Amino acid sequence: MIKVEGLIKRFGGQAVLDGIDLAIEQGEIVVIIGPSGTGKSTLLRCLNFLERPDAGRLTIGDLEVDVTRATRADILTARRRTAFVFQNYALFANKTALQNIAEGLIVVNRWPKERAHARAREILERIGLADKADAYPASLSGGQQQRVGIGRAMAAQAEVILFDEPTSSLDPEWVEEVLGLMKKLAAERQTMLVVTHEMSFARDVADRVIFMEGGRIVEQGPPDQLFRSPQDPRTRDFLRQVL
Ligand code: ADP
Ligand code: MG
Repeated sequence: MIKVEGLIKRFGGQAVLDGIDLAIEQGEIVVIIGPSGTGKSTLLRCLNFLERPDAGRLTIGDLEVDVTRATRADILTARRRTAFVFQNYALFANKTALQNIAEGLIVVNRWPKERAHARAREILERIGLADKADAYPASLSGGQQQRVGIGRAMAAQAEVILFDEPTSSLDPEWVEEVLGLMKKLAAERQTMLVVTHEMSFARDVADRVIFMEGGRIVEQGPPDQLFRSPQDPRTRDFLRQVL
């Protein structure tokens, strides 16, 4: 359903993504691990053109483009089909939890406000924050803010949700409630591409784990295989440090 071929992204002449090939099936849960500075965030950002890639082909459903020739309409389509969950939540501080979830439906999908708010209330119910509809982000815990961030991604009904280290900014006490919500989505077979350092999430939830280093996919496989018998010495070194 999602395919990336020969993706290259350079910053100042240096290839931060150095030829990424990746295909994700509908309903698949893919986790990306790897050292920092390796291009994981850049890969996610290239998938919805938050960064403009320098070369490659991108397929999302029936959208198929050479990334260097993507039109404004292609980019909007790619953004509509991918929802992003940021490390720092990226909520609107001056909007309530309900408005944060409804905003994209109103602005991007052009839903009438009443319909968007009704959908946002359903989502708040599903993420366990029905009683926080009118709360502003500053009055919510980190865990609650990130659940709103995930709720906003759920509302978009995108083909895939891209998670960029969704628990890395959280105090330890809030990590489990956010991972719990992600597990619930995974159980519903929401297609997910997740960059995380939470190895237990990768082990328990992922269908496939990808190890990236230096802008390349070094190794990938089912979590059992990758964690138990990594083939590449770079994967072994990394896992030795984090496990
Ligand atoms: P990761 O998410 O794996 O930690 P990133 O994708 O954030 O890695 O970054 C990969 C490399 O690209 C790093 O060396 C980083 O400094 C560089 N980089 C990322 N974004 C930019 C940018 N906007 N301008 C210049 N360099 C960048
Ligand atoms: Mg990153």
